[in-house]
Amino acid sequence: MSQVWPLFTNIDVDYGENIHLYDRTGKKFIDFTSGIGVTNTGHCHPRIVNAIKVQSEKLLHGQTTILYNSMLDELSHSLQKVLPEKLNCFFFSNSGSEAVESAIKLVRHATGKPNIICFQGGYHGRSIGALSLTTAKSVYRSGYQPLMPGVFVSPHPYFKQYTEEDNEKRTRQCLEELKHLLNTQSSPSETAAMIIEPVLGEGGYISPSESFIKGIREICDKHDILLIFDEIQTGFGRTGKYFAFEHFGVIPDILVIAKGIASGLPLSGIVANKKLMDKWIPGSHGGTYGPNPLSMAAAIETLKVLEEEDLINNSMHMGNYLLAELQKLKNEYPEIVDVRGKGLMIGCEFVAENGDPGTFIAEKVRKSCLSKGLILLTCGPYNQVIRWIPPLTIEKSEIDKALTIFDSALKNSLERE
Ligand code: PMP
Repeated sequence: MSQVWPLFTNIDVDYGENIHLYDRTGKKFIDFTSGIGVTNTGHCHPRIVNAIKVQSEKLLHGQTTILYNSMLDELSHSLQKVLPEKLNCFFFSNSGSEAVESAIKLVRHATGKPNIICFQGGYHGRSIGALSLTTAKSVYRSGYQPLMPGVFVSPHPYFKQYTEEDNEKRTRQCLEELKHLLNTQSSPSETAAMIIEPVLGEGGYISPSESFIKGIREICDKHDILLIFDEIQTGFGRTGKYFAFEHFGVIPDILVIAKGIASGLPLSGIVANKKLMDKWIPGSHGGTYGPNPLSMAAAIETLKVLEEEDLINNSMHMGNYLLAELQKLKNEYPEIVDVRGKGLMIGCEFVAENGDPGTFIAEKVRKSCLSKGLILLTCGPYNQVIRWIPPLTIEKSEIDKALTIFDSALKNSLERE
C-alpha cells in the first residue's frame, strides 16, 4: 500500500474560505495559522482565485529563465510601490528556502567572500545552504551534517527574562559578541553578509530591540558587509507594516520574501539594489520553474487586495486587540509567562515545567484547541510558544470566537474546571 510521509494530523482538508478551513466531512475549523503565515488575504480570496483562473487559460509555464514575460515587470512595479527606492531589483523563485539560497549565492558571488554570519534562533529554510543558517531547533539540523561551511552563529538577545533596562544591556552584550566574532573567527575581509529575521519566527516569535537591529546595520556598514533580512514570515503586513524592517528604521541590502506574497501559490524572491544585483552574472543562477505565471498573477492581485482592503492597518488594529486580550488571559493563567508580538504575529509563551520548558503545556493546549475547531501552531526550540497568525482579513468577532475556544482549551488542559 502506498503511503505519504509524514502525516501530522488526520484532518482531511477539503476547501478554505477566508479564515475557515473545512474537512471532507464538512467540519469547520478556524485557521489561526494562515497556512504558516501564507494566506494573509484569507483562504481563496475571490479576487485572487479569479486572477489565477484568468491566467490559467493563457499560460501555465513561463520559462522565465530564457523568455521574457511582462508580468515580471508588472509584479516588480507593484512591489516597488511598497519598498524603499534602494531596493529596486528583483529575482524571483518558488519557495522560501530557494530564495535564501539565492541570497547566499548572490552575496558570495558579488563580494568574492565566503562567510555568512547568522543569529541564534534563526530559521531560514531546510535546503542545505538555508539549513546551515538555521539554528531555531536542533531537530531541523541533526542527521544532516556536514552542512555548508563558512557559517558563524552570533548571539541573539532573548528578551523575556530581562527587565527593560537589562534588555539594552543584553543587546549591547550581543553586539559586542558579534564584533568579537569578526575579530576572532570570521574577519570582515572573509565575511560576505549577515542574515537575520527582524522578528524571529520559528525560533519563538521574538522581536529584538531597535538598537540591536540598528547596531547590526552599523557594524555591517563599518566593515563593508552586506545585510540580509529574511522577511519570509514577517512580510506583507504580518507585523502591522508591509515589512518588519519598517519597525526598526533599518533597510537591508537584500530582502528575502515569500509566503504572503502570493496568497498560497508558490512564489518567493530576493530584492536588492540594482548595482549589487548587476554583480551577478546572468545565467549563473536560476531554475526551470520560477516564477510561475499563476503565482505572479496571484501576487499582483494580492498586493492590490492588501492595499484596497486596508489589510495592513487591519493587521495592526486587530493585532493590538488580540495582544491585549491575550494579556488578560496571561493575568488569569500563571502558566502563560509571556505574550508578545507586532501586528498579527503574536506569541503566547508557556511556563517551563520541571526544567522541560513548556513543551507539554503548549502542545496540550494546541491539541485541545484543534479538537474544538481552532487551528493554532507552536514555535520556539521547545514548542513552548503558541503563535497567533490569522489572516489579515480577521474581524474582532472572529478573534473573540477563537479566544473563547482558547480559554476553554486552557481550562481543560490545566484542569481548571
Ligand atoms: N525563512 C523564514 C523566516 C521562514 O519562516 C521560512 C518558512 N517557515 C523559511 C525561510 C523557509 O521557507 P520555505 O518553507 O518556503 O522553504
